[in-house]
Amino acid sequence: MTWKDKLKDSVHDVEALREFIPMTDAEAKAYEGIAARFPIASTTYYLSLIDAKDPNDPIRKMSVPTIEEFDMGGDFDTSGEGQNTIMRGLQHKYSTTALLLSTNRCAMYCRHCFRKRLVGTKTNETLNFVDEAVSYIASHQEINNVLITGGDAFLLDNALIEAYLKALTEIDHIDFIRFGTRTPVVFPERIYSDDVLLGLLKGYSEKKRIYVVTQFNHPNELTDEAMKSIEALRKCGIIVNNQTVLLKGVNDDPNVMAALQNGLVEKGIVPYYIFQCRPVKGVKNQFQVPLKRAVKVVEDAKKLMSGHSKRVKFCMSHETGKIEILGSFEGRMLFKYHQAKNPENFGRIFSVDLRKNQAWLTKEDVMRKRVCEPSA
Ligand code: SF4
Repeated sequence: MTWKDKLKDSVHDVEALREFIPMTDAEAKAYEGIAARFPIASTTYYLSLIDAKDPNDPIRKMSVPTIEEFDMGGDFDTSGEGQNTIMRGLQHKYSTTALLLSTNRCAMYCRHCFRKRLVGTKTNETLNFVDEAVSYIASHQEINNVLITGGDAFLLDNALIEAYLKALTEIDHIDFIRFGTRTPVVFPERIYSDDVLLGLLKGYSEKKRIYVVTQFNHPNELTDEAMKSIEALRKCGIIVNNQTVLLKGVNDDPNVMAALQNGLVEKGIVPYYIFQCRPVKGVKNQFQVPLKRAVKVVEDAKKLMSGHSKRVKFCMSHETGKIEILGSFEGRMLFKYHQAKNPENFGRIFSVDLRKNQAWLTKEDVMRKRVCEPSA
């Protein structure tokens, strides 16, 4: 049985979901309405991690719709992806990185996804022609790495993954290639049981460094099954980094966050970012944590974390750049540009007097008071 056959066992509608999660007829009807707008998909493996008796189970919150998804507060493109799109499926926001939207498919459609606008739905945003993207990258010497994402890059056919790797590893100025994928978390078997995938990852790892960037959000996801996929990737010479999204009701508890980041280190996964949840339609009001509280959660978690776990940076992927959230100082919140769309902003530190429940920065906020310049 191939991974594609196994994926066919996944749950794609509310009726099938009811076999795993108890719900009333009224809830089921409401969820069907949500699924018509934001599709449902989950592997049976991931659903098996839910405690069906607990309506607040964190795995449930990430995989099962709720009526809060009807809340259309927010935006669909909160990081300005449209503005950074050079050609269909290729974004170039930061000079050294090219980002490829390789697919709109995922093994699970996370309810908190920031690309809700395109995952599992008809879209004209994903890459059609690998050759055109490769030509652009080859002609831009400043690009030293490529992030292949989506959707979930490991839901691509092996032949297409190989096509990317073959073309990109032949470009001299590319130092490393990243795959953005939640497959190790939600469908680990696709990785550890596929010798063809592992063979080509190992082979191309000998030509260029390959990283997998995954997204574990809760310690309950750090299962033996998931670790089999991580171990398989490691044996191919791949370094696995993790980006956690801070999510209300899932990991906005210092003990949970610390257990997660410490657990990642224990398993040999590098804690890379904790991301502030973006103000996405259908996500914002359900999952975002106000910044003042978010900082407290992360800082309190750090008290329980080792130095290795504390390598993680708490950031927001803002339209203007990747902004690190440093903490509060004399009643204002301090921020620092970790990556910037406008190079003049690199390293710039600024402060904002946050409103009580403010959970994101406006364009005006990021222009406010400068605390110090990178050269200071
Ligand atoms: S796997 Fe990633 S792209 Fe896919 S739904 Fe989840 S968060 Fe979104």
